[in-house]
Amino acid sequence: MTDTVFTEIAQRRAEILKRIDDRCQQGSRVKAPTLIAVSKIQPDERIAAALAAGQTVFGENRVQEAQGRWGSRRSRLPNLQLHLIGALQTNKAKDAVGLFDVIETLDRPKLARALAKAIEGEARAPEMLIQVNTGAEPQKAGVAVGDLTSLLGEARALGLNVSGLMCIPPADDAAGPHFALLAKLARAHDLPNLSMGMSADYETAIDFGATHVRVGSGVFGERVYDS
Ligand SMILES: *Cc1c(COP(=O)(O)O)cnc(C)c1O
Repeated sequence: MTDTVFTEIAQRRAEILKRIDDRCQQGSRVKAPTLIAVSKIQPDERIAAALAAGQTVFGENRVQEAQGRWGSRRSRLPNLQLHLIGALQTNKAKDAVGLFDVIETLDRPKLARALAKAIEGEARAPEMLIQVNTGAEPQKAGVAVGDLTSLLGEARALGLNVSGLMCIPPADDAAGPHFALLAKLARAHDLPNLSMGMSADYETAIDFGATHVRVGSGVFGERVYDS
């Protein structure tokens, strides 16, 4: 990692942490949300820089990509916390359970069953969040609002440790009402954790009680996709 990259990432991260703190103070919030640095697609050098700057919580949206990036690093980083924030296929449940500390994208009974089976006989059991499709978008992952209660009941009956909810508001909507809805659903079900807010709207999410914000480009810079 070059000094320039380290300085850039450390400054970006410090700026986000400061804005998180400022927003909490404005809202008289005592406990700041956890910053999940979303490292998908980012080059290794930028991830090394974030680690060197003190970042310990990272989000990834694809199991295979995350395995390549973190599989060998894990054992050297005892404080590392990995969150899966992308859709999970049932045939990847075992790999996901082996790698992630938190799986934020539980959204259907079949996946709950696959995760419960994958956890059987494992020493570790990741914490789970249920992803809710607050905008009722047909193409988007997440359980329908009306099906949340039954999915939660089923997941709990299977012994899964569900601690909260996650959402990704529709790109064209104001995010606030979606965050408000997610917070209301979490309260109604006694779930303490709320993962909501990305680079463009994490400050709004804090106003609605986010306990985790998922910031990618804000920390690392724009993702550059190979063509
Ligand atoms: C990529 C991604 C993010 C981070 O997006 P930025 O706009 O770069 O902050 C957050 N949440 C999920 C689910 C993502 O896939």
